[in-house]
Amino acid sequence: MEIRQSKLTREWIIFSPERARRPMDFKKKEKKKKETPEYDENCPFCAGNEDKLIHSFIMETPGIGGNPWQTRVLPNKYPALVPDKNVTRGVEGIYLRMPAYGKHELIVEHPKHNICIGKMNLEGVKTVVETYWMRYNELLKDKRNMMVLIFQNHGSRAGASIIHPHSQIIATGMVPLLLRVHEEESQQYFDNLGRCVMCDILKFEESHKERLLLENDSFLSFVPYAAEVPYELWIVPKEHKASFGDISREEMTKFAAILHGVMNRLYNKLDDPDYNYIVISGTRYKAGEPHLHWYLKVRPRLTTRAGFEIGSGISINPSLPEKDAEYLMG
Ligand SMILES: [Zn+2]
Ligand SMILES: [Zn+2]
Repeated sequence: MEIRQSKLTREWIIFSPERARRPMDFKKKEKKKKETPEYDENCPFCAGNEDKLIHSFIMETPGIGGNPWQTRVLPNKYPALVPDKNVTRGVEGIYLRMPAYGKHELIVEHPKHNICIGKMNLEGVKTVVETYWMRYNELLKDKRNMMVLIFQNHGSRAGASIIHPHSQIIATGMVPLLLRVHEEESQQYFDNLGRCVMCDILKFEESHKERLLLENDSFLSFVPYAAEVPYELWIVPKEHKASFGDISREEMTKFAAILHGVMNRLYNKLDDPDYNYIVISGTRYKAGEPHLHWYLKVRPRLTTRAGFEIGSGISINPSLPEKDAEYLMG
């Protein structure tokens, strides 16, 4: 039993290994419903079902290995935010408010219905990453967009409502508190020590090794010291850059390779768990900052946040990060 503090948020995490179940128990009790078919005639995102799309797509990448296309980007049919608003704040009594401005796009990751990042080939993952990068930079051109967040919800526990492999991008007209707190913590660390906190975390994890997963020339993946949930993992670029939009072609290829490797391990070791992953990148005007360092966070959805976690903000993680890393790499 121990309590750890996250370097990035200064949040406390309680580790309670005796509450842990064997990794086997995290696997889904029943096997997947029935085998998902490669093509579903009712799915608007399957190749050949273009007549079911209500929007024309924003962009499309050329197909690989006989596919008619590889990725497609569409406006989300049920957007959380809408683009035809402004970002002007207003007040209502003691309250501050602003219109629901934002962009919400959906990235179809593959023409086939039953594939996911964990099963895709490397070329496929590379195209997904390139699509992220193109949309990220395109959305940042609009000065109203203060934050561009790329994420993937995989499985019903992660909030996914459609099976067809897809990611989403939301651009907002304000900076969320979570990211601001994150930035401020990193700023303070930098002001005190003159170093980027994530660069320090990278160095420590690389030399310490016990939470390491995969590594290549440009990226390191590991279970974070203060993981909030079992099998949380991060993919961090070795070169200090605040913005995902600033990575080179070479880094994109290396990022795809490690994402491919890590998601494949997660898929095989935990039997295709539900998860969310998020690209956490500097908000507008922060791209060149020496204290910010972009990364990707994967959060498997194996446990449920209960009253204590919700009330206190403190996570109770039944699984130790070192054990998680050992299991995933074993
Ligand atoms: Zn489909
Ligand atoms: Zn850094």
